[in-house]
Amino acid sequence: MSEIQTLFEEFKSKNSHLEAEELIDAADKFFAKGKLVSFSSFGSWSALLLDMVAKVNNEMPILFLETQKHFPETLQYVEDIKQCIQLRNVIALKPDDKILTNIDPQGELWKLNVDRCCWIRKVEPLDRYIEETSVQAVITGRRAYQTKERQKMETIEMDDKGKIRLNPLAFWSKDKIKEEFAKRSLLQHPLVEQGYHSIGCAPCTRAVNPGEDERSGRWAHVTDYQPNALQKTECGIHLGAEETKDWVI
Ligand code: SF4
Repeated sequence: MSEIQTLFEEFKSKNSHLEAEELIDAADKFFAKGKLVSFSSFGSWSALLLDMVAKVNNEMPILFLETQKHFPETLQYVEDIKQCIQLRNVIALKPDDKILTNIDPQGELWKLNVDRCCWIRKVEPLDRYIEETSVQAVITGRRAYQTKERQKMETIEMDDKGKIRLNPLAFWSKDKIKEEFAKRSLLQHPLVEQGYHSIGCAPCTRAVNPGEDERSGRWAHVTDYQPNALQKTECGIHLGAEETKDWVI
């Protein structure tokens, strides 16, 4: 059995019963410094997971994908949240300059090929960081109710790139998220009150109408540019290597 598989089996056998913040605490104690990181989009409900992480260890690396396509409100929100909950180690991961120059010199690939654009601006920078730092485990804020693909998720799982994934909010309902968010008096992303309930890059995010699914505003433009394209639901950082192999340059 590989070292990472052994760590996974041991961690899972001891900790699968824990509640969200307890699980983060257990992971912080279990993994060596720098080998456990958290992802954050600094989107609509991200502050809840960030607050849990900060309460356990506010120096844990928080990886933010700085795609260079964010709303200005999101970039300001990153700074505001860092102050509010005293996050000390937010790391902005940027796309590789050479790849951008070669593949997306105009910055408009999102109109023509969203999968490749997400690979350049999100998947590649994240994979590169994880490889360079030998990260063993990542904490995500994904919830099972969000998409069909996410319904299969577990709280503690292995991905197909050989990393352990911890999803402390996996089985939280939308109401429970909102309730806990209010209980902790967390700062809300400013676009939420304008109807943005899932927030990604500006060109690929629109507000949702009452009654629409919270992620229906993500990549809603795809069929405007490519009428026969399948609706995209994931940027790729939560998909397996096999599922994104055709996105790679
Ligand atoms: S969300 Fe849109 S702009 Fe952002 S990386 Fe993906 S396709 Fe590109």
